[in-house]
Parts: sequence; structure tokens; C-alpha cells
Amino acid sequence: MTEPLTIAVSKGRIFKDSLPLLAHAGIELIDDPETSRKLILDTTRPEVKIVIIRTIDVPTYVQYGAADLGIAGKDILLEHGGQGLYEPLDLRIARCRLMVAGRPGGDQTTGRLRIATKYVQSARNHYASKGRQVEVIKLYGSMELAPLVGLSDLIVDLVDTGNTLKANGLVPLEHIADISSRLVVNKAAMKMKHAAVNDFIGLMREAVEQRNS
Ligand code: AMP
Repeated sequence: MTEPLTIAVSKGRIFKDSLPLLAHAGIELIDDPETSRKLILDTTRPEVKIVIIRTIDVPTYVQYGAADLGIAGKDILLEHGGQGLYEPLDLRIARCRLMVAGRPGGDQTTGRLRIATKYVQSARNHYASKGRQVEVIKLYGSMELAPLVGLSDLIVDLVDTGNTLKANGLVPLEHIADISSRLVVNKAAMKMKHAAVNDFIGLMREAVEQRNS
């Protein structure tokens, strides 16, 4: 008997970039996620279901075993902390960098820096490792606006081409981490569904290697 597997995938660019990798594992969606209102999607492998959810929720679904596996950005995994998860594979998709950015010279403030970000843990850890006291202001989007309106001195955000920063008169100042999407596995599922999970990881690894060779 083939064991059932549920895979949680982040909406948006990670989902799109995951499709060719999943196809290599024989997994293609039967329902069109653009038009279907179903939240649990059937695939060409009857034992495999896919749930497409907000990226921030992927580690939580996998941690609690609501999904056996997940595909999420390292940025989100760093914030989550990784409890209850294995991270066996870098899928090398949706690559970008987590950076400190601000106005040119925006990091020269001698007082306590104010940092606006969605990535509170990563920002705290980054400045703690430098021994610098900062005030971190949690935002949920449009971080680039914060230094322009005096909400913060700096931001911590994902940077890909740098065009968003440039369009707002901001510059990248410090590199915090290289980011890409990772395959994560629920720790219990890794034991209980060992064969199915291992088989899936193997196929995804092959797909990543083929894509990057
Ligand atoms: P860019 O203008 O190309 O530097 O892209 C920066 C914008 O895209 C920021 O708003 C980021 O939050 C977002 N972004 C860039 N790369 C990613 C990624 N891999 N995953 C999610 N968001 C991203």
C-alpha cells in the first residue's frame, strides 16, 4: 500500500517555481488552483494531496503534522525557528537575500537604531550578534516605506534585483542571509511514513540536481 502524503506549499512565486520539481516526482495538480475553491487539491498521484497556503503558515502546518511535508522560504523558517521540522533539501528556487537596507548612510545613527521589518527574529539575531541594541518594529508589508516616512532608520527585507529599494531611494547596507526555498518534513512523518517520505525527497533531490546541472 502506498502511504498518503500531504504537502503544504507556499502560495505565489514559490508555488509556481515548485511545479516543475513536483512534476519530476509525478505530481501534477488535477484542479486548477487559480479557479478552484478547493483547499485540498488532488494530484496525478492519488495518494498525494497538496494544500496551497500562505507562506507564513507552512512551517506551522508541517510542525503539527497537518501536512507531512512543506515547501517554504528560508526567511520564514528562520522566523519560525524550525521546531518539529527536518529541513533535508535546499530546492534552490525563489532565491534572494535577506538584507538590511535604508537611505544611504542610514546606519550612521549613533543612538538606538529603529528597524522596521516582517522578520523580527532575524533582525534581532543579526543585531544581537553584532552586540548592537536596536528597536524592532513589526510590519506586515511595504517595509520600504518605513524609512521614507520616519517610522524607522532601517529595514530588514528580502532583496532580489534591488529594484524595489532603488525605486524608493534606498540602498542595501548589510547581508544577513542567502534565502531559497526548502523542503521541510514533519519529524513524526519522517519516521512513520519513512518509505514514502524518503522516496519523495529522493525524487525532489534528483529534480533539483537536473535543473541546476
Ligand atoms: P526586488 O525589487 O527584485 O529586489 O524584489 C524585492 C521585493 O520582492 C521585496 O518586496 C521582497 O519582499 C520581494 N521578494 C524578493 N524575492 C523574494 C522571494 N524569493 N520570496 C518572496 N518575496 C520576495
